[in-house]
Amino acid sequence: MGSAIVIGGSMAGLLAARVLTDFYETVTVIERDRFPDGPEDRAGVPQARHLHVLLARGHQIIESLFPGLDAELDAAGVPRVELGYDTTIYGRGGWVPRFHSGVYTRSVSRVLLEYAVRCRLLANPRVQFMEGWQVNGLATDADRMRVTGVLAQARGGSREQRTVEADFVVDASGRTSHAPEWLKATGYDAPEETVVNAFLGYATRWYNKAPNFNQFWKDLLIASLPPKNPRGGALWEVEGGRWVVTLAGVNRDYPPTDEAGFMDFARSLPHSAIYDAIRDAEPISDISGYQRTENRLRHYERLARWPQGFAVLGDAVCAFNPVYGQGITTAALQVEALQAALREGAAGDIQKRIARVNQTTWLMATGEDYRYPGTEGPRPGWSTRLMHRYIDRVQVLLCSDTDLAQTFTEVSSLMTPPTALFKPAYAWKVLTFRPQQTA
Ligand SMILES: Cc1cc2nc3c(=O)[nH]c(=O)nc-3n(C[C@H](O)[C@H](O)[C@H](O)COP(=O)(O)OP(=O)(O)OC[C@H]3O[C@@H](n4cnc5c(N)ncnc54)[C@H](O)[C@@H]3O)c2cc1C
Repeated sequence: MGSAIVIGGSMAGLLAARVLTDFYETVTVIERDRFPDGPEDRAGVPQARHLHVLLARGHQIIESLFPGLDAELDAAGVPRVELGYDTTIYGRGGWVPRFHSGVYTRSVSRVLLEYAVRCRLLANPRVQFMEGWQVNGLATDADRMRVTGVLAQARGGSREQRTVEADFVVDASGRTSHAPEWLKATGYDAPEETVVNAFLGYATRWYNKAPNFNQFWKDLLIASLPPKNPRGGALWEVEGGRWVVTLAGVNRDYPPTDEAGFMDFARSLPHSAIYDAIRDAEPISDISGYQRTENRLRHYERLARWPQGFAVLGDAVCAFNPVYGQGITTAALQVEALQAALREGAAGDIQKRIARVNQTTWLMATGEDYRYPGTEGPRPGWSTRLMHRYIDRVQVLLCSDTDLAQTFTEVSSLMTPPTALFKPAYAWKVLTFRPQQTA
């Protein structure tokens, strides 16, 4: 059955490794970090300190790849949340009334999710990890038609260099992937890139849940109100009775990372609910900032020539403005596309299939970012402006229309395509809604 290599042992790489075990005898995950023994931060994934929303679709796919993982998260005390009922959102139309959506996910920290998945792979005899090794290039056959492995170097110590051979190589090395340079070095073109940058900044702090703080919600989201108020925030209750609080500002309105500035920013959101919750809560971390958040799409699918035995997925091919919580779920959908391509013997088609997966989430994320005047990227057309007006009205209407709120929840969870919001019954309501009623 041969062997496969995955470059990068984060969420996209781990999910890809799981699928590759169905097709290859051995799967080697090469990761430049050494993994911590538990659910802890590591240098290669600095974003893990920040709130990570696991969309319901991603939750479903991960459970299908690792049956029983949800029960493990449950045993670890990870809150199960029913969207709309255990979560609450303050948006354009005010508070969205509580309702039962029947759409569930887990409110899990990024480090625990990755650790739980990694443990499953550590127990899989087909998977081996090369920790503390950095990939610096691709190895190919003599006529450079096929990728035959990678060039890896030990980090620290001996700095030993090695060629690791494999029949199939997946690059899942994230936003800073060097696949474009590696392809050029082996005689291929680098892909075109599309970048849409809303200059979003995050600041995050972890808390012990405030004692005697009574709330019905487990997760609280205060949405920004573009273009007038570029500030938003979220408070998620994760395992261990902890709250992770992320504040976000768009168009360089970056939230400060000092105590007083962080609290002032929390108070300045469209609603003060997060400030009210954390005012008396015990902080258990420093405040971390993060500003590398542009949407970046690499168009590998457009290249005229592509080497056999190679695929790029995860943030390495499509990285998003994280505020929409789509990264892990999009990686999971890409991994499903990889699985289908391998099953159908269509591995050569993989980048085109991944590009199709990215299309919807890319349009959703960048479409929202274009609401802000300071967003840089290819200019959007009139259809984006029309979409903004339509969605503005949807966001107000769903506060009084549970059916619409249900569909909106499913669309933003990537369970249902966005076209569901445009079915005739909704379109009629939306288009006859009086615009002065929007916030
Ligand atoms: C601030 C922030 C908040 C986010 N919030 C959310 C959210 O709410 N929900 C969500 O779904 N997604 C979110 N994301 C996105 C999410 O983190 C990623 O989509 C997800 O981690 C999958 O990324 P990945 O595995 O492709 O890459 P990464 O997570 O970046 O991992 C890349 C891995 O490759 C390793 N590596 C890199 N180069 C090499 C090399 N040359 N050799 C060997 N190893 C290498 C790195 O050490 C790392 O382990 C957020 C991102 C950011 C920045």
